[in-house]
Amino acid sequence: MGFEWNQRTALEKLIFLKFIIMENNLLQTKNYSFINRLKISLRRASLMLLLLLVPFLSQAQDYDLLLKGGRLIDAKNKIDAKMDVAVKDGKISRVATDIPASTAKKVLNVSGLIVAPGLINIHTHVFAGSNPGFLDGQSSQLPDAFAIRSGITTVVDAGTTGWRTFPEFKAKVIDPSITRVLAWINIFETGFSSGSGFEPDMGTVSVQKTAEAIEKYKDYIVGTRVGHYKGKSWLPFERASEAAKIANKPLFVECHMPQYTLQEQLDHMRPGDIITHSFENVSERMTVVDEQGKVRPFVLDAQKRGVLFDVGHGGAGFWFNQAIPAYNQGLWPNSFGTDEHRTSMNSGMKNMLNVMSKYMNIGMSIPEVIARGSWNAAKSIKREDLGNLSEGSVADIAVLSIINGKFGFVDSGQNRIEGDRKLEAELTVRAGRIVWDLNGLAANTYK
Ligand SMILES: [Zn+2]
Repeated sequence: MGFEWNQRTALEKLIFLKFIIMENNLLQTKNYSFINRLKISLRRASLMLLLLLVPFLSQAQDYDLLLKGGRLIDAKNKIDAKMDVAVKDGKISRVATDIPASTAKKVLNVSGLIVAPGLINIHTHVFAGSNPGFLDGQSSQLPDAFAIRSGITTVVDAGTTGWRTFPEFKAKVIDPSITRVLAWINIFETGFSSGSGFEPDMGTVSVQKTAEAIEKYKDYIVGTRVGHYKGKSWLPFERASEAAKIANKPLFVECHMPQYTLQEQLDHMRPGDIITHSFENVSERMTVVDEQGKVRPFVLDAQKRGVLFDVGHGGAGFWFNQAIPAYNQGLWPNSFGTDEHRTSMNSGMKNMLNVMSKYMNIGMSIPEVIARGSWNAAKSIKREDLGNLSEGSVADIAVLSIINGKFGFVDSGQNRIEGDRKLEAELTVRAGRIVWDLNGLAANTYK
């Protein structure tokens, strides 16, 4: 075992230098008495011993995990640079340009890879079960089945449950999941009805009960949600907004409300409220881009006012003839919610990294893409403790690779574009634990 200077701590370097200086002084001394030689020997021995013990006495193996040499992208801290990340006790312990390998129990070489905050998917349906439809149903997906393999450490369920069904959802899905599961609570008491896909009648809407549920489950519920409503009355929308306002949370608007116009929906939204399926092109809602290819002025006005646009790709919610002109005219999505469900994940959407890759190939820079998949999403759900790699934050980390090649990307209308870059999740760390490792970066070499 050699003394590799670059791998040593400052304290080790200091002791080593002191040792060299002492040896140099000894060479110049002329006093060779027995006592003096004994003194010299003892001093040499004690310094050597100290040098050997430093790794155990100071910060050696202090960290549980060290990711070395990656390109760290952390929008909150405005970092896009080659930096190391050290993890201890489930938290980000240190971020620095060169953290010695000797200081960690496990060291992974992630050079050539992107190290990002764990990704956040703000539009999913995860109350999976055996019923038809979404509520405890077959159309929803268990979060651990799709999230961590895509670098996602936090998902937000989009109103699959209301105040009456939320406790069952928490017990069956939120509590046992590795993925952090948060929720938009539906203004309708049961959430999705398992039959038609549209919500039941208005008698089941309660601001008070919804606000109480948000307060009771404030660690999990990030706001209210309205959508899948075919009536004309604005009461459900207004009540969802009111409950959100009481709780100081955003409202999540999932369209599928054919009797409301797009302009009316946006006019009813406050700054910080989120509209999803932003780039859809289906008969139930007016598109954001008009027939001449221009983003409608009232849409840009809503964006200026602070209304946030989520992709909400889904099975029908993302069309290149909307997303590309919108992108070119400045209507960028704030987050990459996928509207994850059985149909969308097996169609053009596929997974959140595929949605992010579409934007990379449309022209968005990698740091902008990563910011929208992490920090912007965290801010939009008012969870600024997430989506960043600040020292002290929970160690939710996505290590991503960019694959170069020839790829096809498909929208909800079966239209295809070609691209040359694609994101892939190499490693996912959730609260300090490696939960996804595509190529066995952390595995032992088989001999
Ligand atoms: Zn949805």
